[in-house]
Amino acid sequence: MKFLSCFGEKQKTALDEDALLEGQKPGCVFCGVTREKGFDIIEEDEELIVFRDRWPRAAEHLLIIPRKHVISVVPELTARDIPMIERMEARGRALRPQPGVKTGFHIPPFSSIHHLHMHVLVPPWRPLGKVQYPVREGEDGGKKWTWFVKPQQVVSILENGGRVGLGAQAGKKP
Ligand SMILES: [Zn+2]
Ligand SMILES: [Zn+2]
Repeated sequence: MKFLSCFGEKQKTALDEDALLEGQKPGCVFCGVTREKGFDIIEEDEELIVFRDRWPRAAEHLLIIPRKHVISVVPELTARDIPMIERMEARGRALRPQPGVKTGFHIPPFSSIHHLHMHVLVPPWRPLGKVQYPVREGEDGGKKWTWFVKPQQVVSILENGGRVGLGAQAGKKP
């Protein structure tokens, strides 16, 4: 435990990760998602939190996040994160099992919030939905990603030792 005092204490900066609870990142909107902060949480446990997107792009639009700031954006994912990705996907599918539901992640620079989050979109789409969440069907070896990638695509890239990103490097070993 650290004691705060008016002298001798290092000035806290926005980048001082010790200043927050373990596993949180300073200034991150998705660190510490609570109902008190206005988030429409529909389910949560020790690891994951599920809540409604404030700007739904489909009839129903959920976000699933790890409670801790495990990573910021998908290019940081490694094979070690595969079980977590699979749990996020399984949670989404269990919550919204109906056909036509899309799940996936944004690829930078198209990620708005830099705290790993999976979108769950229940059709029909709203205006802008198809543009912002273009899901490319089929496994194409990572060559033709749009800025939205399905969990299964993420897992297959990571299983092959690659990193998730846009362009020619997508799916290739770093
Ligand atoms: Zn965060
Ligand atoms: Zn997103």
